[in-house]
Amino acid sequence: MYLILLGPPGVGKGTQGVLLADATGWQRVVTGDLLRTAKDEGTPLGLQAEQYMTAGNLVPDQLIIKMVEEKLAALPDGTGVIFDGFPRTEAQASAFNVMLDSLSRTIDAVVVLDAGDQVLTDRIAGRRSCRSCGSVYNTVLAPPKREGVCDNDGTPLFHRADDQADTVRNRLDVYHRETEPLIAYYEGSEAAVHRVPSEGAPDEVQGKVREVLGVGE
Ligand code: AMP
Repeated sequence: MYLILLGPPGVGKGTQGVLLADATGWQRVVTGDLLRTAKDEGTPLGLQAEQYMTAGNLVPDQLIIKMVEEKLAALPDGTGVIFDGFPRTEAQASAFNVMLDSLSRTIDAVVVLDAGDQVLTDRIAGRRSCRSCGSVYNTVLAPPKREGVCDNDGTPLFHRADDQADTVRNRLDVYHRETEPLIAYYEGSEAAVHRVPSEGAPDEVQGKVREVLGVGE
């Protein structure tokens, strides 16, 4: 299974991706996490990406495409993959098709998560993330059992630099302008596109995601 999770920042792609990966054994390829790791490690990619990420703008397509190519090349053949945060532009989607052809793979499904901008900004304001396992919490809506620490592995949680209010507005604008058109792009492709409302609790949304994909209980 190659599955794309599509949707605006704060809609729950990370949360839903972690839950789905736990249930299915599929791997997550999360371009935002890969970039944050590159940034933390000070690699050439991280240094190039930093200014774009801090401003809430998209990192240039060619950097992202190369990064995803390398990531996929490192996975064993036949691995199920959940793509979170990629593709984000039509140029990325086209390059992705070329990549898929060379791997003799196709996109099986696209899950579009959706919520209103106010819900997204509220969620992002309280968001705290685990660098180690990718789990996402919210200080108000879904706090960890112990403040500031990941329930899964005890790693201290962090507040993303690009989750500050002014950057968030730009990220939402960028989403509507650059990424939302990919919904129509994939609706015109062979992939099955499923729209799942994502304003409910994580488990409830996960139930709907698994239902449309026909996986899990
Ligand atoms: P995310 O964690 O998905 O919200 O991504 C955080 C930031 O990483 C974005 O605001 C972009 O600056 C960058 N980024 C992540 N994925 C992509 C992508 N596919 N294309 C361009 N930039 C990306």
